[in-house]
Amino acid sequence: MVKRTSGSRKPLTRSENMARIRSRDTKPEIRLRKALWAAGCRYRLYYDLPGRPDIVFIRERLAVFVDGCFWHGCPLHYSAPRTREDFWKSKLRKNVLRDMAADDALASENWRVIRIWQHDLVRPEPAVRHILDLLARTEAIYAAADLPSVTKISESAAVYGTTGRSESDIKTELTCKCGSSDVRILEVNGYGSLRSGAGHRPESVELICRTCRNIWSAVADSDETPL
Ligand SMILES: [Zn+2]
Ligand SMILES: [Zn+2]
Repeated sequence: MVKRTSGSRKPLTRSENMARIRSRDTKPEIRLRKALWAAGCRYRLYYDLPGRPDIVFIRERLAVFVDGCFWHGCPLHYSAPRTREDFWKSKLRKNVLRDMAADDALASENWRVIRIWQHDLVRPEPAVRHILDLLARTEAIYAAADLPSVTKISESAAVYGTTGRSESDIKTELTCKCGSSDVRILEVNGYGSLRSGAGHRPESVELICRTCRNIWSAVADSDETPL
């Protein structure tokens, strides 16, 4: 066996590192699968459907995605990289819009879709309860035909961030005008994260609501003292 010393390997670049993190069978997903299995749920993996859902219940027509906070624009945890700003900017936008296109394609084939944040699977029990509840019911979560297209940008602008605010405050600030907090970051101007206490925070972000497809921008609070 060849012994490899740590010095012989080049450190991964950020994008190489991200590519590794992106792979399937991520830990939060495995945690969810195990918990579902323990709860008696029988599902399919890698079932060929639009957007390639992570977990599929064929008979109940329920498609489950586990979305990584970085790749899918989590408002709490997305951190825009400092380097290759334009690359990551268009990457995120593409990913988030592709997710919604997949949601629509699935809905139009009468699939119900749920997306679970990676950060909500530290303890998978609430997600399992949610899934069990959906499996027990059959009504659609939403109808594809009711969704407006992803083009309209509303006039309203919000402000995010004030020193010392907690995660739950950020959640409230980033709630859509329709009342949904199922909100994703679509685009970031600048680098850093929206979280309070982040080393650097972007000047502004564009947010999109998964529920009503409203898009609006939020600018960084000007009172925020840079760290
Ligand atoms: Zn997150
Ligand atoms: Zn909304």
